[in-house]
Amino acid sequence: MVLVLVEHDGGQVDELSLQALALARDLGEPAALLVGGRQAAAQLGAHGVATAYLAEDERLAAYAPGAWARCVEDAIELIGPSAVVAAGTNRGNEVLAHVAARRDLPFAANVTAIGDDASGLGATRVRWGGSLLEEARLHGPLPLLSVAPHTVAAATVNGGAAPAIESFSPALAPADLVVQVAEHVDAVQAGVSLAEAKVVVSGGRGVGSADGFGMLEELAGLLDAAVGCSRVVTSAGWRPHTDQVGQTGTKVSPDLYIACGISGATQHIAGCKGAKKILAINSDAEAPILNSADYAVIGDLTEIVPAITAELRRARGS
Ligand SMILES: Cc1cc2nc3c(=O)[nH]c(=O)nc-3n(C[C@H](O)[C@H](O)[C@H](O)COP(=O)(O)OP(=O)(O)OC[C@H]3O[C@@H](n4cnc5c(N)ncnc54)[C@H](O)[C@@H]3O)c2cc1C
Repeated sequence: MVLVLVEHDGGQVDELSLQALALARDLGEPAALLVGGRQAAAQLGAHGVATAYLAEDERLAAYAPGAWARCVEDAIELIGPSAVVAAGTNRGNEVLAHVAARRDLPFAANVTAIGDDASGLGATRVRWGGSLLEEARLHGPLPLLSVAPHTVAAATVNGGAAPAIESFSPALAPADLVVQVAEHVDAVQAGVSLAEAKVVVSGGRGVGSADGFGMLEELAGLLDAAVGCSRVVTSAGWRPHTDQVGQTGTKVSPDLYIACGISGATQHIAGCKGAKKILAINSDAEAPILNSADYAVIGDLTEIVPAITAELRRARGS
C-alpha cells in the first residue's frame, strides 16, 4: 500500500495530486490521505484509490505544516504503507520534510520517475530549479517522495468505484499548531497575468528603485505584457513577491521575455528559460544573462527602455 497525501480546494482534487497518484500507482496500490475534503475524496476512485482516509479535526481548518505532518504520521501508523507520496507543491514538500525530520526517514523531493532494485528505491528527481536531473537512491524503512509538478500525467483507471472513506482524528499536540496560516491575501491582479502573458517585461536591481519600474510598466502597457522582476527587487520591497520570476517565484513561458537590468543568476533563469525569445538589456556586456539571451542591447536601461517605448509609440502613431 502506498500512502498518497491528496490536496484539494473547493471540493475539487488538486491536479498535481492526481499526477502524484499516477506515479504512486507505479509503486503499489494507492491509499489517499486527505485533510478534510469528503467531497474531494469521492472523486478518487477514478484514479485507482480504493480507500481514502480523512483526517478530521476543527483545528485543521487553517493549514499548519506540523499538524498535517501529524496526520501523515498517524496514517502511517494506521495503514503501514511501503512509501508515502505527495505532490511537489510548496505544501506537499513542506509536510513531507516535517515527517522526514520527525521520523528520520529518507525524502526525495520533486521526483519525475521511480525504479526499484535490491539496493533501494531509485528516484530521478529535478534539482537546481530544473537545471539538472539527479538519480537518487533512497535507503530506509519508508521512503517519502514528492512528485515534480507536470512531469507525470494524471491518469484515470477503468471502472474505479467511489472509494471507501475512513475518518480518523489525528493526535494533534499543541506544538503541531504553533505555525499556521493566519490569513489569505489574494494577489492584486491588474492587467495580464504573469504566468500566462505572451510578453513579460522584467526588471532587476539595475532598475534602481520602485519608481524605476514606471518605465517598465509603460512599455508593458504598450506590448500588452505583464511586469516581472528578480528576487533582489522583491527583497528590496520594490515589487510584490507575486511578480518574482525564478526558482522561488513564478515560472513564465512567454513568446518574449525582456530582462532589464537582470544579471541572469541560475535561480532567475530557472523561471524564464521557457521563454521562446529573451531580450536582455544590460549595461554589462559580460553579464551571465547574455548566455541565455537571443537578443541583447548593451547600455543603460534608463535610456534604452524609454527609447523602445518612444519608438513603439512613433510606429503606432500614438
Ligand atoms: C535558493 C535561492 C533561490 C533564489 N530564487 C530566485 C528567484 O526565484 N528569482 C530570482 O530572480 N532570483 C532568485 N535568487 C537570487 C539570485 O541568486 C540572484 O541574486 C538574483 O536573481 C539577482 O537579481 P538581479 O539580477 O536583479 O541583481 P544583480 O545580480 O545585482 O544584477 C543586476 C544587473 O543589472 C545590471 N545593471 C545595473 N545597472 C544597470 C543599468 N542602469 N542599465 C542596465 N543594466 C544595469 C548589472 O550589470 C547586473 O547585470 C535565489 C537565490 C537563492 C540562493
